Amino acid sequence: MNIKNYINGEFVNPIQNKWLDNYNPASGEVYSQIPNSSKDDVEKAYQSAKSAFPSWSQTTFEERSKILLKISELIEANLDQLAEAESKDNGKPLWLAKKVDIPRASYNFRFYANAITQFASESHESVGQNMMNYTLRQPIGVVGCISPWNLPLYLFSWKIAPAIAAGNCVVAKPSEVTPMTAYLLGEICNEAGLPKGVLNIVHGLGGSTGQAIVAHPDIKAISFTGGTATGAHIAKVAAPLFKKLSLELGGKNPNIIFADCDYDDMLNTTVRSSFANQGQICLCGSRIFVEASIYEQFKTDFVAKVKVLKVGHPSQPNTKVGALVSKSHLEKVKAYINIAKEENGTVLCGGNELSIEGYENGYYLEPTIIEIATNECRINQEEVFGPVVTIMPFEKEEDVLEMANAVKYGLSATLWTNNLKRTMRMTNKLEAGIIWVNTWLMRDLRTPFGGAKASGVGREGGFEALRFFTEAKNVCIKY
Ligand code: NAD
Repeated sequence: MNIKNYINGEFVNPIQNKWLDNYNPASGEVYSQIPNSSKDDVEKAYQSAKSAFPSWSQTTFEERSKILLKISELIEANLDQLAEAESKDNGKPLWLAKKVDIPRASYNFRFYANAITQFASESHESVGQNMMNYTLRQPIGVVGCISPWNLPLYLFSWKIAPAIAAGNCVVAKPSEVTPMTAYLLGEICNEAGLPKGVLNIVHGLGGSTGQAIVAHPDIKAISFTGGTATGAHIAKVAAPLFKKLSLELGGKNPNIIFADCDYDDMLNTTVRSSFANQGQICLCGSRIFVEASIYEQFKTDFVAKVKVLKVGHPSQPNTKVGALVSKSHLEKVKAYINIAKEENGTVLCGGNELSIEGYENGYYLEPTIIEIATNECRINQEEVFGPVVTIMPFEKEEDVLEMANAVKYGLSATLWTNNLKRTMRMTNKLEAGIIWVNTWLMRDLRTPFGGAKASGVGREGGFEALRFFTEAKNVCIKY
């Protein structure tokens, strides 16, 4: 099946008729083709969005809310088809796509269908000065949304829903590695009655299609989620064009375990926070620091639990770890395991590529735990973004705080302790945009989401995204 671009409500071939192979990571087979879109396709998508903007930006918030709710309902109604497509494109277990990815994509639209009804202009009376001022929140115009492959529809919809809820028109690009659910979203938008041109989806490579969106002089804002190096490049291209930018980038998140935690809960959650989605979640805790007094016990128990995690074909209900997203990503992760060994890391379990019967060309890797002696090694400083974690002991709170912060990233951190004063000290000082204490990955969509340092610029979520996708205009009147 060929995937097409979605422009002006229609499914169209790329202008130059160039295509890319789309692989199923669970089998290594090519199963569809996607447009290798050029600058001309991006221009066509932009023109479509531009034509739709005057009318869409004038719709009432109730009308927009109604359409977003309909999109949310249709995602739910098509859960099985979307989850299968997501799992096939990405290699993630099918049950995970059904339980988390697709329901969350539906929730994203429902959340912003509701949020937009509460998002209003602000007014301030300047008492005694016969003056009133108000601040309008107007849609920006045509905006660009670019997303990665790890949570494809989940993150794609997390940008598109607030952008269109706020009255903008969108040119969007999903990852070239996982384009399928974005393609299916186009059909859903048509069925939901989204006017032609409000959302346009162009498929293709980052360096050409993505670059054309970022460099387009009239696409006024870019919401990007992806790697830190890509984010830095996008910032450079966008700066002279004075674009508004939201950058959600990479992470190297610490998981800090104190002896006074609820041990069983910590252990089970740590298995999940290490290897969920094959470790390919930007929020996975890939650096595990354990208080010395429980280090040996933790090491034994953690290794025992990870060794029995079932790696298998994503369609099998008992699969806990599916396939990595692509051959090149698998090679990158394997290279990091070798680097860790060269740096005197000890592989406690895993470390090898796996061959699954019937799917010998798929991209499978054993969940891997590496014991390291120092925080300064590359495996603890660079983002691997796969089923690989490191563990090392610490003696004092000050030491672990220093190590946790001694990376260029600052996306999230997890802390396990029942000591309230320590919790307050640590959460105040950890350099991260999101901190979980005695839990992991709990998300309230109203709260700001994003990273510090090289993990990003700006915040998504709740009203933060609606603020990003609107221009504030203050009007001051003397009467
Ligand atoms: P990536 O940066 O390679 O690609 C992300 C998207 O950007 C893709 O759609 C890609 O085609 C596009 N792109 C690439 N080069 C571009 C360019 N020059 N101009 C415009 N667009 C371009 O990232 P990836 O490998 O798809 O995703 C993995 C990364 O995403 C990891 O670093 C991970 O931590 C990060 N991530 C961050 C968050 C977060 O919320 N902070 C969430 C998920 C993933």
